[in-house]
Amino acid sequence: MTEHHGQAQTDDSRASALKIGVLAVQGAFQEHARKLETLGADAVLVKRKQHLEGLDGLIIPGGESTSIGRLMREYDLVEPIRGLVGEGMPVFGTCAGMIVLANRIQGGEQPHLAVMDVEVNRNSFGRQRDSFETDLDIPAIGSPPFPAVFIRAPHITQMGEGVEVLATYDGRIVGVRQGHRLALSFHPELSEDNRLHQYFLDLVRNPRT
Ligand code: GLN
Repeated sequence: MTEHHGQAQTDDSRASALKIGVLAVQGAFQEHARKLETLGADAVLVKRKQHLEGLDGLIIPGGESTSIGRLMREYDLVEPIRGLVGEGMPVFGTCAGMIVLANRIQGGEQPHLAVMDVEVNRNSFGRQRDSFETDLDIPAIGSPPFPAVFIRAPHITQMGEGVEVLATYDGRIVGVRQGHRLALSFHPELSEDNRLHQYFLDLVRNPRT
């Protein structure tokens, strides 16, 4: 936290823009960056570890989790990101990003960042329902329901005690929060609705709420 003239953080400094990284090795990172800018945050595209410096939070976008994982390893991003999340940096994974955050992937595939106490099924909604949009009730953001876009979406099959369910669809868990870590099966960056990005920015400001 910044201090001005030796004083503790004031309401003035709270108004300063948050600096939020968007992992930009593969997938839908531009859409997240645009959303963040709309909400007044500074979006930083993270392609190399030096881009992680001074971030207030990080988004892992949707795309293809195997490619995102491979590129993160190639660019030596895994350990630095894991370290920052371990120190309390808020993180928000959407779709493939949820898979990248998970401690376990069904089917025995190696996990990527392994920073959330959840197990995921990578392709849970079947071929007929590869992509769809549905109105989801998400009590944490209030009404109306959120217009959620699912694209070959994963879902959560198991979770630890510290994990809270934010949303379910068809009896499956599609949104969770574990303290400063947030993960969704769908793509909030593809909807007009900004509430889930705002929810993440609020969490970045107040990680303990
Ligand atoms: N099922 C994809 C994967 O395993 C994720 C799809 C998405 O991010 N839209 O990576």
